[in-house]
Amino acid sequence: MQAFARWAELREFANSITEAGEPLDPTSLDAPSPRPKQLFGIGLNYRAHAMETGATIPPSPLTFTKFVSAINSPFGDIQISQTTVDWEAELVVVIATGGRDIDIASAWEHVAGVCVGQDISDRALQNATQPPQFNLGKSRQGYAPFGPWITDSANLSNRDALRLTCLLNGQEVQNSLTDDLIFPVDYLISYLSSIVELFPGDVIYTGTPSGVGVARKPPQFLGTGDILISTIEGVCSITNLCV
Ligand code: ZN
Repeated sequence: MQAFARWAELREFANSITEAGEPLDPTSLDAPSPRPKQLFGIGLNYRAHAMETGATIPPSPLTFTKFVSAINSPFGDIQISQTTVDWEAELVVVIATGGRDIDIASAWEHVAGVCVGQDISDRALQNATQPPQFNLGKSRQGYAPFGPWITDSANLSNRDALRLTCLLNGQEVQNSLTDDLIFPVDYLISYLSSIVELFPGDVIYTGTPSGVGVARKPPQFLGTGDILISTIEGVCSITNLCV
């Protein structure tokens, strides 16, 4: 976690490495930011997803928290003890240097890197009250796997149009470019930092595209034995077994 606060130094060090080390086993990795102070989620942030849920497009980012105790490793199992557990593949952003009142133009400079995550959601719990309680419905144990590593945005030529997919038992259920985001990454960082301070290592789940289970007819939810593979094309992939 301390490395995020010294990201420029870490980047310099990384760039100085010229020899390849031992091959890495991604399944041995923990969450790339294991103990962030804050873990934000953004709801209804893809046009097509807002439409499939029947919601109107929010005038500003619909923000909630996934409590940090929900953080899972990128290949960790997801405990299914309810009948209404749903998937949401998302582009996840990890903050390097934080701060307040970050302007849109410099927002990407505050990003350590991006990865893919699953915003696992218990729909019954989420909708147990009206208005919905996103914070709890998306924070059961293991509901926030992300990783397996973060890719420096400086190494992404298409950081605002990344291909995001989700496979459920080998079948594609979500597929979108992140250029369908209503509020893109730079806007989210600027918006959030105009209200709260962002800290090194903070994590932002930027929202899910269309294709979630609850919006299907009939609705479809996760069960024991299901396998989710969430991918940002050319960047990273995580796999989670439902148990
Ligand atoms: Zn989400």
